[in-house]
Amino acid sequence: MTDARDPIALAQALIRCPSVTPEEGGALVLLSGLLKDAGFETHIETFREEGTPDVANLYARIGTEEPVLLLAGHTDVVPPGDLANWSSGPFDGEIRDGILYGRGAVDMKGGIAAMMAAALRYRDGGGTGSIAFLITGDEEGPSINGTPKILKWAEDKGETFAHCLLAEPSSRNRIGDEIKIGRRGSLSGQITVHGVQGHVAYPKQAHNPIKPLMAILSALVRPLDYGTPHFERSNLEITSVDVGNETTNIIPAKATARFNVRFNDAHTLDSLKALLTDRIERAVEGVRYELDFLRGSSSSFIAEPGAFVDMITGSIEAETGDRPVLSTGGGTSDARYIKDHCPVVELGLTNATMHKIDEQVPVDDLELLTRVYMRVIERYFAKAEAAKASEPVVESTRLAQISAEGDLEAALEAALNAEAERREDAAEAAAEALDRSRA
Ligand SMILES: [Zn+2]
Repeated sequence: MTDARDPIALAQALIRCPSVTPEEGGALVLLSGLLKDAGFETHIETFREEGTPDVANLYARIGTEEPVLLLAGHTDVVPPGDLANWSSGPFDGEIRDGILYGRGAVDMKGGIAAMMAAALRYRDGGGTGSIAFLITGDEEGPSINGTPKILKWAEDKGETFAHCLLAEPSSRNRIGDEIKIGRRGSLSGQITVHGVQGHVAYPKQAHNPIKPLMAILSALVRPLDYGTPHFERSNLEITSVDVGNETTNIIPAKATARFNVRFNDAHTLDSLKALLTDRIERAVEGVRYELDFLRGSSSSFIAEPGAFVDMITGSIEAETGDRPVLSTGGGTSDARYIKDHCPVVELGLTNATMHKIDEQVPVDDLELLTRVYMRVIERYFAKAEAAKASEPVVESTRLAQISAEGDLEAALEAALNAEAERREDAAEAAAEALDRSRA
């Protein structure tokens, strides 16, 4: 029987479950059994949807009072790739010279093992408070029958979550040197400009759609903002420009381009769409074109700055001696679904070998991350207890603080936006002046 308080043994046992998406591989059954033994109420729920594989998910909870701290993650892993390139079997969980090798070692079976060991050690030590685990088997795949559905299932059962810690490998070089407190949004679009086809020798009898498309693209790649307190500048990349003209003597009838924007919290999806639409409209007045925003867009999000994030950074500093960088970079994770239910912070192992051949984690990292998680859990419930004891004063001060922080953020954002507009206007004026001087 695996010792669930030992993150190394547990990570090894999890790696030995071959749970390549969408296979459960025994990983959720293993966790469920261990949590049940520790007094958790556990559920394994399988969700189905036409055209996608069935996926098993685990929900477990201990404690009945508020607040509920949600610990989340995924046991599915990406395929190992060419087995011949691995120095030991990807599902063997072999330890050599203090390093555990295997698919999922950092993304994220190791992280889940540390989270579970921390939660159980905390309870063994007499710790109280409600802890829930939400572990999906579909994060690396289509993410349809995974986290969004088990969250909905939990919500329908009346479960609510105050905060969430997600065990994605957020660290760069050392445990806890970076945590993710939010993610950028993503928006893709397609523009088709219609012209009139004709002979290149008779341009007056035709209308070349490429020229207005160039004007549109020039307008789109202008800066969207200058960054916000927790995010880098938003960025628009043109991903494709297509005319499909095989000849050299025909002016084409239409031209198409596609783009993707990774954007910060200076924009909402709607405000960004409006901004881009307006830029295009101004760039090519009177030209016939279609603008379509493509499916799969997502807005940016950030964990409410303040107590929860501070408690996590404080716990990391107490254990490692260093304060983490608060990051909002990188691609997507299941945090994009959890954020609709409660603030979510990603803290986990180092990400250098994730998805690679010989994915690996030093066993010392597993023990260190377990201690960090345990501190977070201890402080979280100590704070909750303190807040309960001194209600309503503490609560209202805390709320006032948060709203003051919110106001400050809003003011900063407005200032940055005003600055961005000023710079854009200045750049436009300079460009116009240049055009005039050339003419
Ligand atoms: Zn992951």
